[in-house]
Amino acid sequence: MTTLSAPPVTETLRPLELFGTDQLLSEDERDIAATVRKFVDTRLKPHISDWFESATLPKELAKEFGKLGLLGMHLDGYGCAGTNAVSYGLACLELEAGDSGFRSFVSVQGSLSMLSIYRFGSEEQKQEWLPRLAAGDAIGCFGLTEPDFGSNPGGMRTRARRDGTDWVLNGTKMWITNGGLADVATVWAQTDEGVRGFVVPTDTPGFTANNIHKKLSLRASVTSELVLDNVRLPASAELPLARGLSAPLSCLNEARFGIVFGALGAARDSLETTLDYAQTREVFDRPLSSFQLTQEKLANMTLELGKGMLLALHLGRLKDGGGVRPEQVSLGKLNNVREALAIARECRTILGGSGITLEYSPLRHANNLESVLTYEGTSEMHLLSIGKALTGQAAFR
Ligand SMILES: Cc1cc2nc3c(=O)[nH]c(=O)nc-3n(C[C@H](O)[C@H](O)[C@H](O)COP(=O)(O)OP(=O)(O)OC[C@H]3O[C@@H](n4cnc5c(N)ncnc54)[C@H](O)[C@@H]3O)c2cc1C
Repeated sequence: MTTLSAPPVTETLRPLELFGTDQLLSEDERDIAATVRKFVDTRLKPHISDWFESATLPKELAKEFGKLGLLGMHLDGYGCAGTNAVSYGLACLELEAGDSGFRSFVSVQGSLSMLSIYRFGSEEQKQEWLPRLAAGDAIGCFGLTEPDFGSNPGGMRTRARRDGTDWVLNGTKMWITNGGLADVATVWAQTDEGVRGFVVPTDTPGFTANNIHKKLSLRASVTSELVLDNVRLPASAELPLARGLSAPLSCLNEARFGIVFGALGAARDSLETTLDYAQTREVFDRPLSSFQLTQEKLANMTLELGKGMLLALHLGRLKDGGGVRPEQVSLGKLNNVREALAIARECRTILGGSGITLEYSPLRHANNLESVLTYEGTSEMHLLSIGKALTGQAAFR
């Protein structure tokens, strides 16, 4: 009786090498991606399973991210690196290959906290906060969502009322990334003139951050409730150029752009981890990778990863070339998070029982991506935004 032997192993390619997407990048972009990847591989990955298990994100990482120029890296001046959008996206991808918690920290600090001050703040607010936030000497958060208003932030109940020249804020914000770590919070509130933004130092009396525990997702990330109980602020705390809900929504669009790339990092890491495993794991006397069913999974996942990368790069080039529409970012966020989650889950199947521990990354990535699917606009909200662009009809309510 003859036994089937595995075919000989010839040259192998990593999934994105097969697509040749590196060839679409400039030398600078490739250098930035390689630098962040090295930092993630050497400084972050060795610790991530412990941090995930103990639900911690060491605060000192902020300074290390700052030293690498990752905080507000696509902003100009005030100690920010001023890179193009594609470079920012690639940094998000490399960070999220480590863990979505790292990318979330950097996204919130750069694209929500810093951008809200950069875009809508006074010169004094920018001088006071941006250089410290860029260096990681201060940590920022962005409070828009409330317990009863997530997908529909326009219904927010947090209220800012004038008292003489001061503002007094009352309300509760929910699910706020970096909340318990933050030195400064951008808080959005209803006023008699509509939604306004406020720069709130977190040591202001009446401000409390309560961290949310027992999370099954984004465990290496601090997520908090913010309570504002008669928080009194001077007139200078208001963001002077933020008028209405479009202001916070424009910041969310920037952060979402980072996710278009970032989610692919989690997918790439899942796939590469699984490829390595499947090459060495023997089942029925042959490497798991030599079976057609496994190869079908690997090929289909590679296809979706590569297509997602081409979409991300296309949106990045549009953004660098003059502008990308929010609905186009919705296309990218919807597709790339959905596919990354599918890839991470499929990878877990190939890992078998080994896939359910923190020794291998795919299930950790899949759990994280459940949050990424929900924040910065749920998949349903992005479907509705695309539906509106196609039909001209808003079906949100
Ligand atoms: C880990 C994490 C970190 C976060 N960080 C921040 C942060 O830093 N700052 C911040 O402000 N917020 C943050 N958020 C909040 C996040 O943006 C909200 O969770 C998100 O907008 C969804 O809101 P919700 O949770 O209230 O869900 P809901 O709005 O209650 O939605 C529940 C479900 O209903 C669906 N739904 C809602 N409306 C419709 C509709 N019209 N048609 C069909 N389906 C609908 C949704 O798609 C979803 O599936 C974070 C959330 C998480 C989980």
